[in-house]
Order: sequence, then C-alpha cells, then structure tokens
Amino acid sequence: MVTGIVYDEIYLEHKTGNHPESPSRLIAIMDFLKETKLLEDPNFKIIKPRKATLDQIRYVHRERLIKEIQEICELSAKTRRLQEIDWDTVASPKTYEASLYSVGGNLQAIDKIINGNIKNAFALVRPPGHHSNSHRFAGFCIFNNIAIAAEYLFKEKGIKRAVIIDWDCHHGNGTQDIFYHGSKSESGELVMFNSHQYGNFYPGTGNYDEIGTDKGIGKIINYPMPAGSTDDAIPIYFDEIIVPICEEFKPEFILISAGFDTHWTDRNTDMNWTYQAPANYLKKIKTIAQKYANNRILITLEGGYELDKQARAVYNCLKVLNDEDDSLIQEEPRKSRSELLNYFKKRLIPALKEKLKPYWACF
Ligand SMILES: [Zn+2]
Repeated sequence: MVTGIVYDEIYLEHKTGNHPESPSRLIAIMDFLKETKLLEDPNFKIIKPRKATLDQIRYVHRERLIKEIQEICELSAKTRRLQEIDWDTVASPKTYEASLYSVGGNLQAIDKIINGNIKNAFALVRPPGHHSNSHRFAGFCIFNNIAIAAEYLFKEKGIKRAVIIDWDCHHGNGTQDIFYHGSKSESGELVMFNSHQYGNFYPGTGNYDEIGTDKGIGKIINYPMPAGSTDDAIPIYFDEIIVPICEEFKPEFILISAGFDTHWTDRNTDMNWTYQAPANYLKKIKTIAQKYANNRILITLEGGYELDKQARAVYNCLKVLNDEDDSLIQEEPRKSRSELLNYFKKRLIPALKEKLKPYWACF
C-alpha cells in the first residue's frame, strides 16, 4: 500500500509577504521531493485536497472566528494589501480558501487511510494550525487542522480513541486549549502528547503540570524541553511516558502535528535537533500504530523555517512512512549536554509521572 502526500497549489495562495511562514516552504519541499525522485516512486501518491465544510470547521471553532477570517480576506482583496490578524499572523485574499483546503486535505487523507486506499499520509498543507484555538487565530495559524481532523475521526469515522503527537518546537497551545476539557465529541477520547522548547519562549505554555481538566484530565501530556535539547531528549519521553500510556489507551488512529523548527539551524528557535531526528521519532511512533492503530498515521505540517533542512526532514519522514527506515538522509548526530539528560531522566520524567499517576494505571 502507498503513502499519500497531500498537496495542491492552493496552499501557495496564502500569501504572507516577508514572513518566515511563506509559500516558499512548500515549494522547497516539493522541489526536493522532485529532485530526489521520490515523487516518481510508485509507493507514493499525491492526494488532491478538498474543501472542509463549515460544519466541520465548527467542530472546534466559533462562528465568529469563521466570519472574522472571511471579512479579513475580503478586506485584503479590496485594499490589495495583506491584513494583519495579530502581530505575527497575516492574511491575503485567498487565505480563507486555502485554510478550508488545508483542513480538507487532512480530512481527505483520513478518508483514504480508513478506506484502505493508502496506508498512511503526510499532509503538506498551509496555513498551519496548532496555535489557533476555538476563538483566536495566532502564531501564523488559521484553522486548527489537527484538532478538526481529530473531531472528524470521532464524529464522522467512528473512531473512539485517537492520539495527537505534536513535535513542533513551539507548544501546540491552540490544540491543547481545544482539548483541555476533553474532546468535543461525546463518543471520542483524545490524548495529546506535546514536546516543545520551554522557558522564555513563544507561546509560553506547555509546562508538565498542565494536564487537562474534566473529561480531559490526565490526557494532555506536556514535555517541556530546555533550549539546547537535542535528538536524545525524545527517546526518554517516548519510552517512559508515551509507550506506557499508549499501551493502556490503545489509540485507533495517530495524528501528528509535525513542525521542523527544532532543527539546530532554525532561525526562530534554540533547539538542537538534526534533520533525521523527527524521522527517528516517527519510527518509534510507528511501532504503536502497528500494534493498535492498524498502521494508521496522518502527519500534518506545522512550522519549520530553514527551507533546505525542513525539506530533508520531510523527505526522511516520508521514507519512514513507506517503511524505508534505513534510507534516511543523515547529518552528524548531536548530543544533549549531560546535565540536560539528567534533568529529563531524574527530574522531569518523575515529576510528570507523579502528576499523571491518578489517571493512568501504568504509573
Ligand atoms: Zn513552531
């Protein structure tokens, strides 16, 4: 079975001017996939997106927010100028339309995965979504693609348990807000694993003691990493926290908010990952998908601002989705300082387990 790659030129129509989150991010990825001939490999298939319906957008966003983006885009068309939504998020005339396709591309991939047309998928979409919550756009994001995808699984696809893994360098605060009280759908249960740079860094949330409330209590699981953390921080989180929880929770579908701004060269962040690190994380996630989720993984693109590094990191993730685990493009491995590793093993992980203990039998 093939791996789907969601892509369409509509995603280039969300224009942002001189901004790190620009159409050139997707252009660089697609150019690299062509250059490496990955797109000629019959194991990969381009999936054309559809528009999400407004009812689907309403699964997580308020009506007022939908109106707001429509009006901002109309104003942008009328004035022929980009419009500021907040201090770092802008919209152009076709941002609203591109956003509907950004969500819809993810939903299209879900349909094909569940129908068995494709094995798994990577949605190369923009605008990204994980900083937007029910009532506010933020951090380069318009509609929260991954949150709507999760609710779509529950409301339209009969999935009862799903996991979101967000490995973007920035905390997925919008997604966390949306699910802080649990999933919107009565029939669905969602667990969110968030790993991110933490400490004097945008958006400022995502400490280990933010664990959800009400129906969502114990289901928001944050792994705040100090600046300078590298590839070796993630296996500790995976083995100590993600595996035991997934063994107990048994997710039927795995959604990934994939940012590639953890790379050591990224201009907006201070992390120290290589471009093979996300793919190595994905190999681990795949073991859970194989065991419980019938291999069902959908990755959606969030951030990542060093174009050549991001393209290599995406390529590596596609190789892993296609079970070519040994075909990664590698750079020199990087290691965290020993004090950092000690912090993860001796302080953060025990504190996190203590916090989660009342809600998970595995701890
Ligand atoms: Zn980010």
